[in-house]
Order: sequence, then C-alpha cells, then structure tokens
Amino acid sequence: MKTTIVGYPRIGAKRELKFAIEQYFKNEISQDELLNVAKDLRHTHWLKQKEAAIDLIPCNDFSFYDQVLDQATLLNIIPKRYKDLNLSQLDTYFAMARGYQGEQGDVRALAMKKWYNTNYHYIVPEIDDQTEIKLVGTKPFDEYQEAKELGITPKLVIIGAFTLLKLCHYLGSKQAQDFVDAFIQAYKSIIAKANELKIEYIQFDEPSLVQDLTQEDLELFKHIYQEILASNSNSKIFLQTYFGDVRDLYVELQKLPFYGIGLDFIEGKETLNLIEKFKFTPNQILVAGLINGKNIWKNDYAQTLKLISNLKKIVKEDQLIISSSCSLLHVPYTLNNEEKLNELQKSHFAFAEEKLLELKDLSTLASLEDYSKEQSFIKNQQAIKTDRNANNQEVRDLLSKLTKHDYIRTPARAERQKLQKDLFNLPLFPTTTIGSFPQEKEVKQNRSLFKKGQISEEQYISFNQNKIKECIKLQEELDLDVLVHGEYERNDMVEYFGESLGGFVFTQNAWVQSYGTRCVKPPIIWGDVYRIKPITTAWSTYAQSLTSKIVKGMLTGPVTILNWSFPREDLSIKDSISQIALAIRDEVLDLEKNGIKIIQIDEAALREKLPLRKSDWFKEYLDFAIPAFRLTHSKVKPTTQIHTHMCYSEFTDIIPAIDQMDADVITFEASRSNLEILDSLREHNFETEVGPGVYDIHSPRIPSVDEIKRAVQIMLTKIDRNKLWINPDCGLKTRGVKETVASLKNLVEAAKELRRIAKLVNDATDQ
Ligand code: GLN
Ligand code: ZN
Repeated sequence: MKTTIVGYPRIGAKRELKFAIEQYFKNEISQDELLNVAKDLRHTHWLKQKEAAIDLIPCNDFSFYDQVLDQATLLNIIPKRYKDLNLSQLDTYFAMARGYQGEQGDVRALAMKKWYNTNYHYIVPEIDDQTEIKLVGTKPFDEYQEAKELGITPKLVIIGAFTLLKLCHYLGSKQAQDFVDAFIQAYKSIIAKANELKIEYIQFDEPSLVQDLTQEDLELFKHIYQEILASNSNSKIFLQTYFGDVRDLYVELQKLPFYGIGLDFIEGKETLNLIEKFKFTPNQILVAGLINGKNIWKNDYAQTLKLISNLKKIVKEDQLIISSSCSLLHVPYTLNNEEKLNELQKSHFAFAEEKLLELKDLSTLASLEDYSKEQSFIKNQQAIKTDRNANNQEVRDLLSKLTKHDYIRTPARAERQKLQKDLFNLPLFPTTTIGSFPQEKEVKQNRSLFKKGQISEEQYISFNQNKIKECIKLQEELDLDVLVHGEYERNDMVEYFGESLGGFVFTQNAWVQSYGTRCVKPPIIWGDVYRIKPITTAWSTYAQSLTSKIVKGMLTGPVTILNWSFPREDLSIKDSISQIALAIRDEVLDLEKNGIKIIQIDEAALREKLPLRKSDWFKEYLDFAIPAFRLTHSKVKPTTQIHTHMCYSEFTDIIPAIDQMDADVITFEASRSNLEILDSLREHNFETEVGPGVYDIHSPRIPSVDEIKRAVQIMLTKIDRNKLWINPDCGLKTRGVKETVASLKNLVEAAKELRRIAKLVNDATDQ
C-alpha cells in the first residue's frame, strides 16, 4: 500500500527558515544566502520523507511566507501598489505579506486571515478590475526540478482554483464570478506547463470543499474542473480535501476525471459513512487521510488498521494510498530534539517526522495477513494503553457541582457599565493597549537565564519589575488612559498560563508556524487541568502600585488556552475547556481581591475552532465555549470591568455569541480587514463596548495621526461614541520599541484631537 502526505512543515526542525528570513529583513544576510538556506531545508525535508519510504513526496509545499500568497503571486494577483514599489520579486512578495515603508514607498500589508479552523494565517490576495490573472511565475516548477535532481519523483502541490477563487478579496466592480474564466485559463497554463515538464503527479488542494456549499458553488466547482481537467494530457491529478468531509459533493467528485481523491478521515466526521453508503468508484485512487495532521498523539494502529481493512472491503488494495489528514504544517517537526519530555510522554506522541514513520508502519502492517505479532504493532499498542495518570478528582468534583448561576454575571451589563463609568471617570475614547509591550533581547534573556537556573528568582523578578516600572512610566508619559504591566514575564500568552497550571506538558522545540516567520509552541494538555498557585497577581499589583491610573490585569481565556494547545483525545473539548475556565476563574478572583479594577481575559483564538460548517457552530462549539468564558468572570463585583480581546475581526457572523460572553469591553483587530464588522455590530445592537484596533501591529509601519483619526472617524459613523475605545489591534510584543513609542504617541494624539472635535461639536449643539 502506497503512502503520501498532504504537505510537510517548511520552517525547519530548529526554525532555520524563520531565522534566515528575519535576518534577511534586517539586511544581515543577502538574498542569495536566504535562497540557499531555503534550498537546503527543502532538500533535508525531501530526503527525510524519502528515508521514511513515503511514496508520493509533496513539492511546492515550501513557502517563504504563505502558500496562498505564493499561489497569488504565481498567477499575477499582485496589486499595483506593490508592483509600483519596483522591488525585486522576492521583496515585492514580502511587501505584500508585511507592508513596506522605505525609500521606494509606503504601503500596508495585505489582509491576513485564519486558514480554516487552524492557527495558521494566510495572506488574503486582492483582486481589482485591473488584475490580469495569468501564470507568470515558475516557483512550483523550479521546486519540482529541484526534487527531481535529488532523485525524487514528487507530487506538485498547488492550491486549487476553486479555493483560491473563494479566498481572494474582490475590490473592484468585478466579482469572483467575473474571474472564473481567467482562473480556468491560468490553471490550464499550470497544467500545460506540468504536462510539458512531464510532471507525473499534481495535487490540487481544495479545503473549501469541506464547508457548506450552495448549489452555485457545486456548479462552479464542477465547471472549473471539467474545464481544467479536460486540458490535461499526461499528469495524474489528485483532488485533495482536508479539515472536514465533502458530504455536499462526494458523489460528484467521482464523476470528474481526477486520478485520485484525498479525503480526511480524522476531522471528516462523515467521510467513512459517505464511502460506506455511496461506495467508491473503481476508476479513482482513494487517498485516505488517516494520520492526524493537527494533533501530536500517537496513532492507534489497532483502530487505523481496522479502518483500513474496512476500506479494503470497498476499494481494491492498489486503489488505496494512506496519508495524513491534512498538511503536517500544523504539527511540530520532530520529537528528537525534545530533551525534557520523559519516556512515558514521548511514547504517547508523534510529531511530523514520527508521523512519516507511522505511515510506513501502517502500510507494512496493512499488507500482512496477521499483524498482531509484529514488533511495530505491539510497541504501538503498549504505548497507547499505558496509563497516563491524567485524572484529578478534585477538579472533576468541582465541575460536577456547577449550576447555572456559575455562568451568569449580575447585574446586567448596562447597569454595570454605568457603575463603571461613574467610578473610573475615563475620558471620551479611552486609550489603552492590548497588553504586551516590545520584548527586546534582554527581556527574553532574563526569562531564559532564570529558566536555566543561571540567575536567582530575586534577580529575575527585579529585572521584570524594572521593566514594568519603565513601561508604566512610558505609558504615563504617553498619557494613555488604561495601563498595562507589559507582560515581560510571558513568552507566549498560552504557554505562560499552561506552565502555571497542572495538567500541561511542555516541549522545547515543538514549534508550529502561525504566520510568516512567526511560530507558536503550543503546550500539550496531558491531563485534567487545575490551578496550582496564583499566576499573575504579583506582577499586576506591582504595576498598579506604581501609578494612580488603572492598570489592567491580563489573563488568557479558557477557549484560547485550549485552542492554542494540543488537546487531549481522551476527554471531550467541552470538559477540557470547563476545567481551564475554573482555573482562570480562580485567577480572576485573586486579581480582584488584590485591587485590580479592570481585568482583560484574552480570547484571541475564540473564532478559530468554530466548525467549518455553520450547522455545527452551536451544538459543537459555541454552546460550551461562550459559557466557559462566562464561567471565568461571573463571580466578580459589578464595578470590576471585564475586557476581552480577540485577534482578527472575523466574527461578523457570530456577533450575538460574542455579546453573550458578557464582557464589558472587547478590543479586536479591525485595521487589516475593512471595518465591515462595524456595520454588523450596529445591526445587532452590540452591547459590549468596543475597541476596534486603529492600526496594524503585525507590520513595522508607523501610522500617522491623520490615518488613525480617519480610522476612528469611520468607526464613529457606526458606533456610539460613548462606547468606543482607542487601541492598537493586538499586543505589541513583536514590535520594536522605537516604532511602538512613535505609533502610540500618534494614537494618543489622535484620541485627543478627536476629543477636542467632539467637544466642539457638543458645545455647538448645546448652544
Ligand atoms: N494580551 C496579549 C498581548 O498583548 C494578547 C495577544 C494576542 O491577542 N495575541 O500580547
Ligand atoms: Zn490579538
């Protein structure tokens, strides 16, 4: 039985690509040096897969920033403002990804969005009426040749036309349907080129197919592929889906001349049912995604082999290729560099490299009459069955005793908001930040020295206290209204909390790409979660002791902690989230008890795990995620103001649910997307006060006072001015100090000018 994977991580086992790109950004290495690092990595990754005897090794899954941006650039979907910078090809690409401010001009980055239900973010390609879609690049073909030279016959991975068409933003009068023909022509050119180069295998990724599709979508999909596939002469073309099942067009797919169809058996709840019910055409290959591409737990061979044997009743053995459920981009690279995990832990995990070996094992075992005596099988089953000692009875008891009152905060929000206004006496358009301040080398060093035991706890604390002092002083000088302590003690908003909670396991190098060069290192939820001791109180109270302004306490919410961790597979997500919520509730109440008047509970990742199909939204997610958030703050005093923060404003469609989190204030990203969220807030009579980010912190650009004023003025056309906060769109941790100070200065200045204008208008109407 043959094996393949949908894609492989590209950042490198030690994040080599990230570091090289960042050096390139700082002009520390040349473009050639960067290209060499990239090439070496591709080679290493291909050879690794070859060594693991993967039959169909993907190529063009490499990217300097993002695979959607790669595909857009390949097809000339490059807005004019970036072309006009007259930069090199690679620099134009980076300008689209992260903005450009320099001698050649000043442009913002393209929007960024979450990649389906993952924590990966893609760059949203922009199409206007002038966009001429055509094949202009050679990246996929170059990488194919490169793999060929290594003696590999790779499959060329390309984001499919339907998905790309769906993901683009259309800014002009022409909409998606007006570009269908152009897309088809461009993809035909890709196929023609592939045919010419005698490329054996092509994989078109179409994750959009696992969402709810309309009749029009179905027709569109069929039309696109009938056209594209008809032009193919000699390549074998796979359609690859992932992140769910294709229930809306399962049968249709088999009528199209695809060589093979890739289906996800992990997240695709209906996949097996579909196959059992409608069978599988003998004319196609079934690429069965059996190894979880999103989680780090070892595959249970007994279960998977049973599934394979069920599949073999429906498809012939040589019709079956086993694969990962999605690209392994979403799991860390290897367990080999983990020195701190104990043997028990290691024996339960499989990262990307280990997953390759699982595929190899499974393919061998599946070909045997009786695999029960095989070493690889026995070892796997032993590991799977070893007890993890994961239960905590106290938490389980607590959970079972919760009643509906634990989920309801009183009095109602409007009343609380009034009490808080009177008490805090903040100006119109209060200014604040999202929490973290720039983390320079010394800040990170302080943490790492302490972790390694090279400095004492006193030294560690006193360094951070000095940073907090500086941070408070800076914010007072800037004249921000609600201050923060700066989060110098935190590497990552989830890892930090995980480390102080029972039930988590941490890795040293298990990085997963989040966007561009940014990676996250999600903790692993190993067992029941509980709070061991207070986590943030000392930092927050210290900061508060330095100023008469209000300092916001800063916590990460239960949904985000869960969504940015690798979850258990032996406990429901609902129970896991509730356990975390109880731990955070302890922390909220501790902060309040210690005099903290505003507490922000970040739910940066709330939207992330929203099921891709609308029909599953409530039942499978919101119905327990939103109450879990309420559980964290339902017991605070009416005058304690609860803030929350969400990265990205993609919650237009779940606004009532966001309001039901019952926070007093929410800050969110709005600068990269087109503020369309504001209309919806108004439509839904959104009660929570809002701070839509007025500038983009993902880019080093400094926004001008006018730019910020304009952004706020647009907001004011939709939002009651008494409910509007002014803030950046996310934490400032990744930014430099200089640009941060300059940006915040402009932000406060803009707020002040807007207050003056508001006052003039007010005075005028009073007369
Ligand atoms: N409070 C966090 C910070 O400022 C929030 C980060 C986030 O939303 N990703 O860093
Ligand atoms: Zn954020």
